[in-house]
Amino acid sequence: MVGLDEKGFIATGENAWRHPSFTEHRGGSGGQPLLLETTRPDVFAIGDVRSGSTKRVASAVGDGALVVRSLHEALAGLSGT
Ligand SMILES: Cc1cc2nc3c(=O)[nH]c(=O)nc-3n(C[C@H](O)[C@H](O)[C@H](O)COP(=O)(O)OP(=O)(O)OC[C@H]3O[C@@H](n4cnc5c(N)ncnc54)[C@H](O)[C@@H]3O)c2cc1C
Repeated sequence: MVGLDEKGFIATGENAWRHPSFTEHRGGSGGQPLLLETTRPDVFAIGDVRSGSTKRVASAVGDGALVVRSLHEALAGLSGT
């Protein structure tokens, strides 16, 4: 499970960082998550399920475009490059 807001939407980015479960989900590490990253490392959420999203098609598509950069960063971190 990832950290959720009070309405059940998934916390990402700054919201994930401030979420009570963040440190536990990071194994005690408090480093800031990537854009659109959840409380769990390398797990991302976009579109309607994301806390604070606008619940519109264009917003979901925009999230999809934005998350690509974070995915590249996460993959680079995993491969150590
Ligand atoms: C009736 C209605 C009218 C709307 N009209 C407009 C409009 O005019 N303009 C506008 O911009 N927005 C409109 N919206 C909002 C728009 O549909 C959403 O903002 C947009 O579809 C969000 O895209 P998404 O990819 O985040 O989620 P979704 O489009 O909901 O896609 C999520 C997908 O995940 C699938 N899924 C769910 N659970 C699982 C699972 N456990 N495993 C695998 N797959 C799963 C679902 O079947 C679905 O295909 C409307 C919404 C509704 C309900």
